[in-house]
Amino acid sequence: MSGNEIIKIKDLRKSFGETEVLKGINLSVSKGEVVVIIGGSGSGKSTLLRCINRLEPFTSGSIFYNQQDILQTEMVRNEIGMVFQQFNLFKHKTVLENITLAPIHVLKRIKEETVKEAMELLKKVGIEEKADVYPSKLSGGQSQRVAIARALAMKPQVMLFDEPTSALDPVLVGEVLWVIKKLAEEGMTMVVVTHEMGFAREVADRVVFFDNGIIVEEGKPQEIFNAPKSERLKQFLRRIS
Ligand code: ADP
Ligand code: MG
Repeated sequence: MSGNEIIKIKDLRKSFGETEVLKGINLSVSKGEVVVIIGGSGSGKSTLLRCINRLEPFTSGSIFYNQQDILQTEMVRNEIGMVFQQFNLFKHKTVLENITLAPIHVLKRIKEETVKEAMELLKKVGIEEKADVYPSKLSGGQSQRVAIARALAMKPQVMLFDEPTSALDPVLVGEVLWVIKKLAEEGMTMVVVTHEMGFAREVADRVVFFDNGIIVEEGKPQEIFNAPKSERLKQFLRRIS
């Protein structure tokens, strides 16, 4: 196993009842790599991310994080951040409190330090002026940027994004993709599920095409988008263009 590999997934299978939704996934992610997962609805993309983050138990196979079996290490939840389609902010907490909550209670950090870092993160995602407002006062794009800041406050080694812009008005998509792109440029290791093909082309080091619980094809963006090999991927690209 290469020392540069931060995540390694081996023959991962997952069933819900009788239905197998992950049918033997093999995927590695290197430090600093941006992997973009594309594929139709119901193909198992969210389930895969949830397994990586230990939000979902799996049926068989294994997932390693820094060469440790994720089922044997407690660090995974803290060190792998996740951002969802629905931002899931705490409604009754301010933006600042949303961001400092886990560092204070999970990491047992000193409050003043977490506030200082949270303000820096808000600046990074471009909404420092919203620190003291409640989530109901935010637009979707602002909410998602708070959710990203909240995940970053745990100082994750890897970020997982599950369709981070799918719930947003089209005009707000850009401000969230801008933040994710900036993270990529800073060298953050990321796995991003998205339907934003322009973003995938521009930011992905590798694009992975999921279909019906398996990885059908993977490669550099220009290979996947300009020279798709499988009929399934060709069909998918035709459908979304
Ligand atoms: P995607 O994110 O690619 O749209 P999902 O991973 O959400 O796909 O879902 C893959 C399949 O697993 C779908 O058929 C979905 O209905 C099913 N599924 C997902 N979560 C559950 C669950 N908690 N219980 C039963 N079936 C589920
Ligand atoms: Mg999904």
